[in-house]
Amino acid sequence: MSRKFWVGGNWKMNGTKKEIEGIVDFLKKGPLDPNVEVVVGVPAVYLDYSKGVLPPNVAPAAQNAYKVPKGAFTGETSPAMLVDLGIDWVILGHSERRNVFGEPDSLIAEKVAHALETGLNVVACIGEKLEEREAGQTEAVVYQQTQAIADKIKDWSKVVLAYEPVWAIGTGKTASPQQAQEVHAQLRKWLKEKVSEKVSNELRIVYGGSVTAANCKELAKEADIDGFLVGGASLKPEFVDIINAKQ
Ligand code: PGA
Repeated sequence: MSRKFWVGGNWKMNGTKKEIEGIVDFLKKGPLDPNVEVVVGVPAVYLDYSKGVLPPNVAPAAQNAYKVPKGAFTGETSPAMLVDLGIDWVILGHSERRNVFGEPDSLIAEKVAHALETGLNVVACIGEKLEEREAGQTEAVVYQQTQAIADKIKDWSKVVLAYEPVWAIGTGKTASPQQAQEVHAQLRKWLKEKVSEKVSNELRIVYGGSVTAANCKELAKEADIDGFLVGGASLKPEFVDIINAKQ
């Protein structure tokens, strides 16, 4: 079973046109492993600009999109608008959307379903908080978050599932390769039981949370880790080393 390694950057609310030029420079210089699918999550206002300047082997992704095509939803962006710009990817359910902006599982699932219906590829993010891990609830939390999505979609072929423990995001505290592998393997088992064996075998499950050039190679060796979603380090030249983690 071969799942193409996938590495996404998540710029979050960072960047200016000038800073994007710098990121484009190191991505162009690479060289990037041709066997890796590379995506970068760009702030909405810079999507069109970034699409014009990024190398063709790096696809821009939106960091959010709403659950309907258009209407009276001030400040929102729809999947239809992303498709209109030629954007192929959207990140949904990031822990900052869940925890800073209060997005519940049900809304995230509706957004995932609508984005897929519109033709986008979706990076669907899940992950437990520190207190949930300490209370032994990690599996229950990630199953519940994934179940909400499974209730709303049938076709998982355009989904990448990003397991991002909240306690590891932006904290410099990475999950150990064993901790990440354990959750990824549990998720795959859950998918086999609750969705299908095909989805369990084919869905890419990527890890996110303080991934760096220094820790990516060990994480990438784990059987069920199919790539990364990278925040802080995706703004720096070391992102190239993370993309090339399998080399
Ligand atoms: P980090 O962020 O790599 O800075 O921890 C990861 C993410 O939020 O996707």
